[in-house]
Amino acid sequence: MQPATQAWWFAAGRLVGTVAVGLGLGWLVGSVWGGLACALALHLGWVLAQLFRLEWWLRHRSFADPPDVGGVWGEIVAQIVRLHRRKRFHKQRFVQLMRQLQRSTAALPSGVVILNAQREIVWFNRTAGELLDLRRTADLGMRIEHLLREPQFIRYLAGGDYSNSVVIRPPAGEDAYLSLQVAPYGDGQLLLLVSDVSRQMRLEAVRRDFVSNASHELRSPLTVISGYLETLGQDPALDDELRGPVAEMQRQAERMTGMIRDLLELSRLEESDAASGGASIDVPAMLALLRKDVLARPIRPRDVRVRIDSVAQLIGDEPEIHSAFSNLVDNAAKYTPPEGSIEMRWWVDEDGGHFAVSDTGMGIPKEHIPRLTERFYRVDAGRSRGTGGSGLGLAIVKHVLQRHGARLEVQSELGSGSTFTCHFPPERVSAAQAVSAATA
Ligand code: ADP
Repeated sequence: MQPATQAWWFAAGRLVGTVAVGLGLGWLVGSVWGGLACALALHLGWVLAQLFRLEWWLRHRSFADPPDVGGVWGEIVAQIVRLHRRKRFHKQRFVQLMRQLQRSTAALPSGVVILNAQREIVWFNRTAGELLDLRRTADLGMRIEHLLREPQFIRYLAGGDYSNSVVIRPPAGEDAYLSLQVAPYGDGQLLLLVSDVSRQMRLEAVRRDFVSNASHELRSPLTVISGYLETLGQDPALDDELRGPVAEMQRQAERMTGMIRDLLELSRLEESDAASGGASIDVPAMLALLRKDVLARPIRPRDVRVRIDSVAQLIGDEPEIHSAFSNLVDNAAKYTPPEGSIEMRWWVDEDGGHFAVSDTGMGIPKEHIPRLTERFYRVDAGRSRGTGGSGLGLAIVKHVLQRHGARLEVQSELGSGSTFTCHFPPERVSAAQAVSAATA
């Protein structure tokens, strides 16, 4: 039999015994009910005394020294002691885990800040405190926007798209840069990861300056070389045998000039990530000019069409947009044979404005598509060299689109053609007004 069951039987036996003794004594003194009442009262008094000891023990939380009571009361005390030990064990494990967690996050080279759904600081590690100049006493419970007032960060936090990080200048620190990335979790809480990217930013600036200075320095001697080659090429006294090599030198010098021009443009675009200008651009007029440029090429696809599905204007920086669109149209013209065709299309829908250039050219193998916008990336160096490409055109397109909050989509089928589409957000489109398809 279980000790608890035994104790209950014993308690029941004691009650029956008390009742029997009360009845017996009452019968002896001539009052059976009086005897019973006295016996029950004594029993109740004893129960109350046990209850009092139990309550006193619980109130004083002296779990190490439980009262020495037997029977059912002893069983209850034993259960309470067992529960208390189990609770203490779990609490100790939890505290240990919390300490380990705190130590490991404190040792992280990145800063970590926990924000609640109201964007208030709940906790931060030592690195975050140092990088963001946060003080445990004053800043816990403060809204993060009140402490980090950088407009870029405020916009990023409000935007809700946390797939990328944002780089800001820290509140204290002149020549420093911090990268901040938010990771949402739980019920609206946010984990803010902070890392010091000053070194990378400085190296990046050095690289940009180097490319820009080298391009500037190369431009002048190259202009001189090109000038002399042109004069030489036009000289009637030039030996016929030398005409071919001089013409090739001229072509290569032109290619280098194009590369330097593109490198300078890239450096300029990379100088800031800030959103580009807010002028209204007449896209149909721009596309008509681009079509004319293609038609003026000595070798070009037979059919060059422009399809305007909206008269809505694009808001942005006109020279930058022209450069991006003309790079895409140039590529379509370069990589499409004379019997092929090109179509430029501009349309607007609820997702924003879209500009697409489709061609029926050679197409691009799938595995190259994700890397096309990398600097100097060419699907096939031979095909690009033959067309005088620098490998920088799509890098320029990507940067221009980024500065306009837009993205580039590439669809291509090897051997049957490609479509490059620029997707602009709705705020980059003014007075969207669809018209029926017009083909130039
Ligand atoms: P490039 O100046 O060499 O054309 P880009 O950056 O403009 O450099 O393009 C990168 C590469 O992508 C090109 O070398 C070419 O192989 C490929 N490419 C770009 N546009 C097209 C297109 N419309 N059709 C086929 N291949 C293309």
